[in-house]
Amino acid sequence: MAIQSKLCTWCGSGFDPNDGNGYLFDSDMNQSRIFPAIPICGGCGGLGVQFDTEDFKTRVNRIKTLRFQFCPIDPFPDPPTAVYYVALTGLIKEINALTKAYGFGNDNSFARDFKNNFRLYRDMLSIMEMTMNMGAQKLKETPLYTSKVYAQAAMGATIKCFTGQIDEGIKQLKDLCEKYPNDSELINNLGTLCLLYKRDSDEAMKCLIKSTTLEPRKSLHFLSVAQLFHMLKNDQDTLVYLKLIKEQPDYQEFKKSVPFNVEAAIRSLES
Ligand SMILES: [Zn+2]
Repeated sequence: MAIQSKLCTWCGSGFDPNDGNGYLFDSDMNQSRIFPAIPICGGCGGLGVQFDTEDFKTRVNRIKTLRFQFCPIDPFPDPPTAVYYVALTGLIKEINALTKAYGFGNDNSFARDFKNNFRLYRDMLSIMEMTMNMGAQKLKETPLYTSKVYAQAAMGATIKCFTGQIDEGIKQLKDLCEKYPNDSELINNLGTLCLLYKRDSDEAMKCLIKSTTLEPRKSLHFLSVAQLFHMLKNDQDTLVYLKLIKEQPDYQEFKKSVPFNVEAAIRSLES
């Protein structure tokens, strides 16, 4: 006997597009990202119906997580292409596995549309792959940002993240940070990657703040902390770090090369 299903309690509320067809309007659809949110319902995985099994719940939960990885609802900058790529690849895999196990649900379900429009998603992946490969090539040709012994390895870790091997790239950079624990540039890099690729602002903040306590002291490192505090809407600490930028040994150089007006930013926060 087939497992019984019932209309999805999430997308089946009756209001368009939440009419029980596996489309769900959620907060990510108001985010302005490079790629628009994918409105797949996290309650039914796009089928419009729910099955009362642990397996089904686990699968749709993974789909819900991937939906928000694809279009994060955080105040941080747009994710690098690799984040979209990994999330979309995961979503395609999960939706295909779900429909194989439970069918396509309602007649007008998201899952059915997804299958019919699959070429569109495949084309999106191709464009992302091209962007990642071109970017990685460009990174490889860019002169290393530091002459330190770890420079090549740090670049390798960054390229890993850039091309979609995110966890591996971050782990490699973490290992380097352990090997060279007193280097401000390495830990600052790690913080930036944690924010952009993992959307982990706690870990990022820890790393970025630590980078301001190590050598070499760089105005840019203080700016990255100020910017993260600003994104988190913490004006008080933003101001503290903006003021510290001016005390760094490379501030004059920073003023010439970085298009960010520290004085103006301080004035606007103090007013
Ligand atoms: Zn649903």
